[in-house]
Amino acid sequence: MKGRVSPYKSAIVDIDRNYIDEVLRRCSSVLGLPERRYDFELIYGDDSAGFGSFVPSAQPGLNRIALLRQDYEGSAFHEAVHYVMGQNGLFLMCVEGENLYSRLVDETVAELATSEVFGYEISPANFLEEALKHDYPDSEELKKLAQLTYLEPQYIMAMLRKEGEDFEVVKGFIDAETKYAAGMLMSSGERVQTVLRELHDFQAYFYSQEFRSQTGMASMIARYNAERMSRNNVHARKLVSWIDDGINHGNTSTQMFFENVADHAFTEKS
Ligand SMILES: [Zn+2]
Repeated sequence: MKGRVSPYKSAIVDIDRNYIDEVLRRCSSVLGLPERRYDFELIYGDDSAGFGSFVPSAQPGLNRIALLRQDYEGSAFHEAVHYVMGQNGLFLMCVEGENLYSRLVDETVAELATSEVFGYEISPANFLEEALKHDYPDSEELKKLAQLTYLEPQYIMAMLRKEGEDFEVVKGFIDAETKYAAGMLMSSGERVQTVLRELHDFQAYFYSQEFRSQTGMASMIARYNAERMSRNNVHARKLVSWIDDGINHGNTSTQMFFENVADHAFTEKS
């Protein structure tokens, strides 16, 4: 495992087809989708280059799931969610194409469902707050981290600083979502237009970044929203039913993100 970490409270297990079959069944039930047999291709990734060098992934369009031979239950479940959504025509990156908002909606579904089953190791809101303190490790801590992850200390520092910079930008995104949810009086279309103007710089930054950095930002935002939606009692299967409706009505993923995710994450239920 070479020091890979998981955001979810889950154990490391042997990954094989039988295990994934079981996970796909479990995740269909969490998503409120019918159980059926999936004939997927399982690919084993390689993390020999150390921490963060392999990111598990599901490519429903290519009928593929990529994990390590031994991986976290949470990672397997998260990717299984993407796969099942894709196979049921509900994965927005396949339906609409890959953009910021299709990624955010797809990631929110995976985060909501996975955190419902396993829970987060650390609350995403607390994690972000801590990261924004920019408390970087001293040389002793850095040495330990290097031993744990098999990476060069300078490389770890560069990664942490980059993540800190990205998370500042993520905080701006969350602030805009908060403002959007507070502007309940405007009609829905106007509200989305207003928040999109507000997020213009965020989008420019997001699209200018490398894929790894984009993934980190999208995951952070999705975890933050998923935690808030859970607190507001919105479960993954509810979000999935809204996405299903949204697709049937020809809604864009931008609209679905703000109306089905941000609104329900940031509006306190009384
Ligand atoms: Zn994902």
